[in-house]
Amino acid sequence: MTVSAHSLPALRTKPKAIFFTDFDGTITLHDSNDWMTDNLGFGVELRKQGNQDVLLRGRPFRDAFQEMLDSVTTPFDKCIELLLQNVKLDPAFKEFAAWCRENNVPIVVLSGGMQPVIRALLAHLVGEEEAAVMQIVSNDVKARPGKNINEENGWDIEYHDDSSFGHDKSLEIRPYAALPDRPVMFYAGDGVSDLSAAKETDLLFAKAGRDLVTYCENEKVPFTVFHDFSDIHKIVQDVVEGKMSVQQAATDNDSIRLIAPDIRRTDRIQL
Ligand SMILES: [Mg+2]
Repeated sequence: MTVSAHSLPALRTKPKAIFFTDFDGTITLHDSNDWMTDNLGFGVELRKQGNQDVLLRGRPFRDAFQEMLDSVTTPFDKCIELLLQNVKLDPAFKEFAAWCRENNVPIVVLSGGMQPVIRALLAHLVGEEEAAVMQIVSNDVKARPGKNINEENGWDIEYHDDSSFGHDKSLEIRPYAALPDRPVMFYAGDGVSDLSAAKETDLLFAKAGRDLVTYCENEKVPFTVFHDFSDIHKIVQDVVEGKMSVQQAATDNDSIRLIAPDIRRTDRIQL
């Protein structure tokens, strides 16, 4: 399939940079799917086991994630109500999003979560207006046969594509990466669902202490650690304002972690 620049939504305003980002656990402090699994579904122990199976034993993310969400039988509207009460935003994201809008840096949310959950949380956390300008590419929700999503055991996840990730985030990024004279591309993430996107952009931000760090170490993918969006904001702003190139950002930054080939530390796994 040939993709022209005209068909890529984040190029519409001819930006100098595009900020691709995960949602759950990256823009939010807690992963909404983890929260549902831990509190409404089969609980934290089985969830951690599922993540270990993906990271260490090669189980498809799609299958482990399906099992987690299948364990949540709470009506969908009730799930959203509870998530709005319990999931908090990274304290520096709102300011970063406002800066991006003022400086023509599109934010593209690439998520393994479900579209209605993401829209509801974003509108609640950053405001309707700010949320409305963000492109969201994600999985969705569907009713189980003969059911309504807002009844007990009534909803199921609808995956974005046929990949083993359920949503292969690299599919959205690659057409941009292939363009000549393309904008600088950033990606921020924290977890297993970011594995497919981790190698695709110019500068990868991985959240400190999370699974994506373990993965990048194991796969020798260069990354920059971030603790919250104030770390990201500073670097993205410097690059967009021409004070620093991405190459400099990747080499000058103290938090950059270029991992030597012989270091494979799966013992440090944190889920
Ligand atoms: Mg995440």
